[in-house]
Amino acid sequence: MTSEDTNVPAELIGRLAPSPTGHLHIGHARSFLLAWLNLRSRGGRVILRIEDLDRERVKPGYTDQILRDLEWLGLDWDGPVQMQSDSEAALQAAANSLLESGHAFPCFCTRKEIALSAPHANDAEVRYPGTCRDRFASEAEGQAELGRQAGLRFRCDPDELQLEDGFRGPFTANPGQEVGDFLIRRRDGAIAYQLAVVVDDALSGVTEVLRGSDLLTSTARQWLLQNALDLPHPTWIHVPLVVDAADRRLAKRDGDTTLKSLQDRGVDPRALISWLASTAGQECASRTTAAELVPTFDLARLPPADLPFDGAQERALLSQR
Ligand SMILES: [Zn+2]
Repeated sequence: MTSEDTNVPAELIGRLAPSPTGHLHIGHARSFLLAWLNLRSRGGRVILRIEDLDRERVKPGYTDQILRDLEWLGLDWDGPVQMQSDSEAALQAAANSLLESGHAFPCFCTRKEIALSAPHANDAEVRYPGTCRDRFASEAEGQAELGRQAGLRFRCDPDELQLEDGFRGPFTANPGQEVGDFLIRRRDGAIAYQLAVVVDDALSGVTEVLRGSDLLTSTARQWLLQNALDLPHPTWIHVPLVVDAADRRLAKRDGDTTLKSLQDRGVDPRALISWLASTAGQECASRTTAAELVPTFDLARLPPADLPFDGAQERALLSQR
């Protein structure tokens, strides 16, 4: 027992939330291992939620492989596997309630219109210029005039937010400046990532979200949604990423870093767990299991820098077959 145990909430619940749009890679393995250890070492529950809402990108077979990967890593979970698509009705109800309460408005813009009208906030996201903010009195009015389906966007105030991260400490964010009013339901009717995460975490009673630091910029949007829906905020913990030799975040396209590829080449998962744990500051044997790390795990020993995975690390793993 450590002194921190007195701060554990009455029920500690976290989740692993992979999306079946590709194979899991070493970066996922590290985030999932840290999330799992941080929960299990404090008596917490682990939920497995498959984020399968994006029908265009979800591919058959990936969910089964994700389950095999987690088993290979020795990461278990409590209760049945949750499919995000099963909560579709609750997600749509949350989107509608935000529209009714005035927190959201219908947006008729196409992706192309937005791209043409706004400077790029970053590689992936374009700041929404506010075109439809006060454009139509109702969704029906806009539909009648433009002859298109509307998406829904969350109305962001231009205020800077002060938030707290369980690993990085305090940080500021300003979604209104960074991304503008953001999508909560796409024009094709699909619920957007930010809203789906918030509603599903609340439905599952999630109290702690440990994930890769690439999702840090999502946190403020999720915080705003939780306020608007009167939902509790979980503790957020954003951990450093695994990066390639060029210092880029590993992506699902990087084939030879996938867990399936390591399995196919006969890598001992205990060697991978040992490498992931030792580079996360944990003392362990050269081959170990996730369960063996539970008694001594301490997130405070995690170094703040991103973790490179390159050819040398790959050869070291392959030598331990
Ligand atoms: Zn619009």
